[in-house]
Amino acid sequence: MAKEDYKGIWVFAEQQNGVLNPAVLEILAKALELKAHTGEELTAVLLGDCVGSLAETLFAYGADQVILAEDKALASYSARPYEAALTQLAEKYKPSIILYAATSLGRDLAPRLMVTLKTGLTADAIDLGFDRDEVFYQTTPAYGGSILAHIVILEARPQMATVRPMMFEPIEPRTGATGKLITETVDVKADPDYEVLETAPKQDTGDAIEGAAVIVAGGRGIKEEADLAPLKELASLLDGKLAASRPLVDNGWLPHEKQIGQSGTTVKPKFIFNVAISGSVQYQVGMQNAGCVISVNHTKGAPIFDISHYGVIGDYKSVIPALVEEIKNRKA
Ligand SMILES: Cc1cc2nc3c(=O)[nH]c(=O)nc-3n(C[C@H](O)[C@H](O)[C@H](O)COP(=O)(O)OP(=O)(O)OC[C@H]3O[C@@H](n4cnc5c(N)ncnc54)[C@H](O)[C@@H]3O)c2cc1C
Repeated sequence: MAKEDYKGIWVFAEQQNGVLNPAVLEILAKALELKAHTGEELTAVLLGDCVGSLAETLFAYGADQVILAEDKALASYSARPYEAALTQLAEKYKPSIILYAATSLGRDLAPRLMVTLKTGLTADAIDLGFDRDEVFYQTTPAYGGSILAHIVILEARPQMATVRPMMFEPIEPRTGATGKLITETVDVKADPDYEVLETAPKQDTGDAIEGAAVIVAGGRGIKEEADLAPLKELASLLDGKLAASRPLVDNGWLPHEKQIGQSGTTVKPKFIFNVAISGSVQYQVGMQNAGCVISVNHTKGAPIFDISHYGVIGDYKSVIPALVEEIKNRKA
């Protein structure tokens, strides 16, 4: 089949326990931009059991149509039934593009579809668009993150990508929006090798950096673990969370959940304080959508200043305690 015969933009509407992953709404927003460019229909594909009510949300956030496939074997995520269901649907409808959230589920499912559909997949895209030749590209850090590459899938279809969460802003929900709901039957069986007996939400320690409105992040310029205390105090005074670039996590000073960046967490706080962080590409892709970026670094030419709204050229050992003192005085 010629690639021109593949039409439509699909977003895999990842849900667990009947709750859509927030990244789905972000990807729908970006897919709307792609749709504005190609004029193709935007479809959300929803797999599960008793999840049909989620279609309303998908319409509100931009989907023209929802393909819904429900089956007991799809009630909880299990790789083989999900792979079979989505493969059957993609072979039937032949979309041109399929986008998945780069969550652990999406990262498990998308490569399986790459194999069954014999197509290409870009992992962890941070942007999507069309180049001058109208070719769909996916932007992703490459060569160890030293460059941002535009990946294109020239001949194979569908063109697929997993997209990092928190890269795009969901649209304002279109209240009362409706679309076409297509109910499909898929031929799937429960995975013969294992059964999901129970799922439990991850324990909330109250310290997670995803969703934090204020973050104070420390980097390799911090010489001793004890020097993190003033950063923690600053975070606490601002009702924020302490985070780090990778070297501090590699040192074992903070757990991996606290790492911002390509191999860590993507964050989108209102304010982020980068303290003694140089601003590598791998770090930036994890925080580039922060509302206000404030950086403290004693090197004038540090790349982090290129993406900062406010910068302090100075030693964190004097700047951070002074800031803490000032905030305390103003609060008193
Ligand atoms: C595949 C891959 C994935 C990666 N993933 C990640 C990731 O997810 N997150 C991540 O962070 N990195 C990641 N990295 C590592 C990344 O390349 C950088 O090495 C790392 O981000 C550097 O961290 P940094 O900015 O804290 O340290 P450095 O680059 O060493 O910067 C330290 C900064 O501190 C400043 N400084 C020093 N002393 C002081 C002082 N007294 N006062 C003020 N400023 C001071 C210096 O001027 C310097 O700018 C990854 C690398 C690879 C290859």
